Amino acid sequence: MWSIFPLLPLVACVPEAASLPSAGPGLDSVAPVDSAGDTADVATDSADSGSSSDPGVGVTVIIGGGIAGIEVANDLGDAILLEKQSALGGRVPRSGGEMFFAGTAEQEALGYPDSPAAAAADWLALTGGEPTDTTLRWLEDSASVEARLMDEGLSFVLYDDPGDHVPRAHMVVGGGTVLTDNRIAALPDTVDVRLETKAEELVLDDRGVAGVLVNGELLAARTVVIASGGYAGNASVIGSTGAFEAGTWRAAPPQDGNGWGMVSAGTACLGTAYVDRIGAYPTSVAISGGDGMAIGAQGLPLTSRGVMVDRTGSVFNNGDASGSFRQSLAVRQHQPVWVIVDGEAIPELFADPDLPYVQAGATCATTIRGLANALGMDPTTLKEGLGSLPERDTRVSFHGVDDDVAGELCALPVGWSVQKSFGGLDVDEAGRVRDTAGNVVPGLWAVGEAAGMGAPGMGGLVGFDGSLSAIVWSSWRTAAAIRGE
Ligand SMILES: Cc1cc2nc3c(=O)[nH]c(=O)nc-3n(C[C@H](O)[C@H](O)[C@H](O)COP(=O)(O)OP(=O)(O)OC[C@H]3O[C@@H](n4cnc5c(N)ncnc54)[C@H](O)[C@@H]3O)c2cc1C
Repeated sequence: MWSIFPLLPLVACVPEAASLPSAGPGLDSVAPVDSAGDTADVATDSADSGSSSDPGVGVTVIIGGGIAGIEVANDLGDAILLEKQSALGGRVPRSGGEMFFAGTAEQEALGYPDSPAAAAADWLALTGGEPTDTTLRWLEDSASVEARLMDEGLSFVLYDDPGDHVPRAHMVVGGGTVLTDNRIAALPDTVDVRLETKAEELVLDDRGVAGVLVNGELLAARTVVIASGGYAGNASVIGSTGAFEAGTWRAAPPQDGNGWGMVSAGTACLGTAYVDRIGAYPTSVAISGGDGMAIGAQGLPLTSRGVMVDRTGSVFNNGDASGSFRQSLAVRQHQPVWVIVDGEAIPELFADPDLPYVQAGATCATTIRGLANALGMDPTTLKEGLGSLPERDTRVSFHGVDDDVAGELCALPVGWSVQKSFGGLDVDEAGRVRDTAGNVVPGLWAVGEAAGMGAPGMGGLVGFDGSLSAIVWSSWRTAAAIRGE
């Protein structure tokens, strides 16, 4: 018999409050936990293990048509791809299409010789953690990932991402929408794409995965790949991890990263890992492309009109070499961050009275010392930081960096927009999902953000920019492992 909840051997799982995300407002149609583990009202039964009459044998169902699900489907060919929305792509069409590759021909041609070893050497500074074995394998393969994507019609331009010591950010020409269209076009005809079809529950039996509940009925499958995205798009799920303090972050739209995998983890006793690792940006950083710009429009054009300071008064921002890392570190440590703007810019920046920054209010002063004191910062540190900004004349006019500011400086508390999660379901190196006891659940796989980018801990402490390349790589790797079974 099968159950929408685990029987054996996963029945030992007793969901704990801290590790059990609860469905929140942004999380639609997550069925309540059936604590009795009753079978659903669907008439089917599994036959002898391995028999050809066993429902679902040979069937692979992929849950989620974001880039992770698409790439697994691309390399599996024969699969059912479920996407609850009316189009494939998930979050990637809204993304900038930035991908992280080390040692590519573009880098060489532009005079930036790079290598996987050089990227690995930078990893601690980039992500706050040492590279894992999987990270190293991905770095080794990254140039070949780019080469394949180029063979399949994409082109890239190199971009000097402030987090890297040599330019490694490879931007898809045309951005996330072109990347999405290209990957969808690569899907073989043998992939059965089912749009507006939501996986409601995982169905497990005593042998592992038995299928997926769709519209209340069992879609039998002995191989299920969870590619439902991370929990970054769902503030309730982020909050339920217990790792982030309410009010220091908010989930970024769109809500595709709805945490379905994490909720399934809670109901099906699946393990989770690194759920305190997220990629976050100040809400107001303008992000190119689609709805991403809406995020920028909600806040302030920070990169052009302001600089960020942490609670010590140290200045940093996206234009700073360590800005990206420090942003992520700050949010992870729940540190308050402000953006300092020229007071003259306030009316222009606050044209929309509904902006949260307006509601939160700004702290303004006519001297740097006064501002630092009002915010509890070290005035000397703040003064030095502002004075060291070579671009201050264009980014923010401080009327001279001195205590005698002939105008007004305002500090605005920055909200965080969580763009991606670097933790999720606990998977092994190939993407097999493990239960809370650390045992592989037969037939169950996870890729993409649902699996923390595809492998445990590969994003370091605070993650890295351009993780789409890791998602693509790990999705291909998981597809190869599924084919090999
Ligand atoms: C504005 C923005 C800009 C970004 N820019 C970049 C960038 O430049 N570079 C980079 O590396 N990363 C970037 N990211 C992050 C990147 O886009 C994501 O990490 C990546 O797209 C995640 O892919 P995924 O397939 O794992 O998940 P998702 O894209 O979230 O896809 C999951 C899919 O599963 C579907 N789904 C969920 N639950 C179910 C269910 N129960 N049944 C059926 N379907 C379901 C969802 O509808 C969705 O389509 C950005 C993110 C945002 C929001």
